[in-house]
Amino acid sequence: MRQKETMLNTLLKENKVTMSKLSDDEIGNDHVSANIETPLRDDAFEMSDTKKIEKIEFHFKEIMHTLGLDLTDDSLKGTPNRVAKMYIQEIFSGLNPDNKPKIALFENKYQYDQMLVEKDISFYSNCEHHFVPIFGKAHIAYISSGTVIGLSKLNRIVQYFAKRPQVQERLTEQVFHALEYILGTDNIAVVIDAKHYCVAARGVEDTGSSTVTSKLGGAFKNDPTTRAEFMSIVNK
Ligand SMILES: [Zn+2]
Repeated sequence: MRQKETMLNTLLKENKVTMSKLSDDEIGNDHVSANIETPLRDDAFEMSDTKKIEKIEFHFKEIMHTLGLDLTDDSLKGTPNRVAKMYIQEIFSGLNPDNKPKIALFENKYQYDQMLVEKDISFYSNCEHHFVPIFGKAHIAYISSGTVIGLSKLNRIVQYFAKRPQVQERLTEQVFHALEYILGTDNIAVVIDAKHYCVAARGVEDTGSSTVTSKLGGAFKNDPTTRAEFMSIVNK
């Protein structure tokens, strides 16, 4: 599953810098990541969700208190619990493999052997370096090797991996490799076009830019006609 030549490796090679020479702040602000697996500890799911919500609520209350906020205020007092529930049950629910979407595959009865493109899949994720939103669109394509997947499932796979603290390159890789595994083919293409709140609202404060990442496999990578057809559909 691991990519030998990640975007970062290429980057590092070209710039002749090594990760160890970058400070944690620089790594965070430049949103580099070296690993396609989300860095989780082995004991990540030993604690129950209920207990996690309790703990996050406690610590988030501390953060708000430290900021000087009055937690007896009617509008604020429920916030720590709301944030904790939102983290565990919604925006970071994709960390837990129990929440992986159930995927049913179907036989390719129509013998459709051309590319299938699912465009403009909206998603919301969160930057793992700043814990603020990344949001945008994913475009996915595959050429069936004999099985097909329900269209809504393509959507669910994107949502599952988006609901983690993320970097966009890893999200792209994770969606790609999940589809490669599920569909049993490397004729897969994933393009993600997203805005990063941490770039728009802080740091360089650039509201106009968006980040595009892509991962192309099989014919999408090697056959110029297939790639051109996919790109023209995505850019339409
Ligand atoms: Zn960020």
